[in-house]
Formats: sequence, structure tokens, C-alpha cells
Amino acid sequence: MARYTGPVCRLCRRDGMKLFLKGIRCDSAKCAFERREGPPGQQQSRRGKMTDYGQQLREKQKVKHYYGVLEKQFRLYFQKAERSKGATGDVLMTLLERRLDNVVHRLGFGVSRSQARQLIHHGHITLNGRKCTIPSALVRAGDVVRVKNRAVSLDAVRAAQSENQKSIPDYLAVTESQVPEGIVGRLPSSEDVSLPIDTQLIVELCSR
Ligand code: SF4
Repeated sequence: MARYTGPVCRLCRRDGMKLFLKGIRCDSAKCAFERREGPPGQQQSRRGKMTDYGQQLREKQKVKHYYGVLEKQFRLYFQKAERSKGATGDVLMTLLERRLDNVVHRLGFGVSRSQARQLIHHGHITLNGRKCTIPSALVRAGDVVRVKNRAVSLDAVRAAQSENQKSIPDYLAVTESQVPEGIVGRLPSSEDVSLPIDTQLIVELCSR
């Protein structure tokens, strides 16, 4: 039997905040974070005050889990952000926000980022009229993200749209014609990032 490699609920409790990794389950009473707050494990009282390094590491892990990126990819985003103009932390978050899998999720075409990633991998999504199977592709202002005009793609996306309870961010717009279509109105700014995070701690950690 294939081993499950998707996001696990435990990450939210370990990182100390809801990361919304499981789609509609996250907004339901089944959410593991709501049922029992705090880190996993029975001996929570033994955990002492977190060190500066621990706090920095936790902020970084939150971002990685939230956007579903691995350490190597994360380092590449950080290097790119360092080379760019502007505050490194803000640029880092906007780079992650521009990932196609994140945009597909925030448009409501996938209930979670992992489902959005699967939709892209399986060829259900086009970017500017061309099939794009790369979840890490970065969108630009004016890009058009469209669902493929075939029954299996439309069914998967319409089911996600009907379950989705989240509002669409200002930098995106959805049009409902024959097929659901999203337009990137402008590049996202750090205010468009829905994860409350102290980016300065990440910059301090990754600049060592
Ligand atoms: Fe996190 Fe709750 Fe969603 Fe699980 S269900 S991923 S604990 S927010």
C-alpha cells in the first residue's frame, strides 16, 4: 500500500496555530487544533520557555508547512528574496503567495493547497491558455488561470468551489463563464498573505 505523504494535522499543534492543511475539515468541529490546543504529547508541562532559535525555527516551519514547500525550495525562495529590492521577509512571502498551487487554492478551485497541487499535477489547470503541471510556477499580474474544459476537471473544481468557505483575496478575481476562470489583477503584497507570521524571525534565522 502506498504511504501517505500529504500534510498531517499534527503540524498545526506542533507549530502552535491553525495552518489550514486539510480543506473543509479545518473549519469543522473535527479540527484537531480546536479539539485540543497546545503541542502534541502528554508531557506538555515539561516544555520550558522557547529559545530565540526555537522561535525563529517555528516561524520558518509554519511558512513551509502552510505553503507545502520543502527546505531546499524554501532556501531558494529566500535567496531570491535577498537578491530582490524591498524587505526580504515581505518579498519572501509574496514569492510564496505567487505560487500557482497557492493561487489555485485561493481562487477556491481546490479546498486546500495540497488538493490544488494535485489538480495542477493531473493537468486540470491551464495558465494563460496552456496546460501547466508545475505547482511552483510563479504567476504574474494579468495571468489567467483557467480550469480545463472537460467534465472530469470541471466536476473536481465545482465540488471544491461548493465546499470552499473562504473569501477570495483582492489581488485575484474569479469569472464564471462556461468554465471557472481566475485573473491575477496585480501582484500580491505582504498584506495579502493570510498567514500571521513574524517574517523578521525567519530572516534572522536564514541569514546566519
Ligand atoms: Fe490544522 Fe485543524 Fe486543519 Fe488539521 S483540521 S490541518 S489541525 S487547521
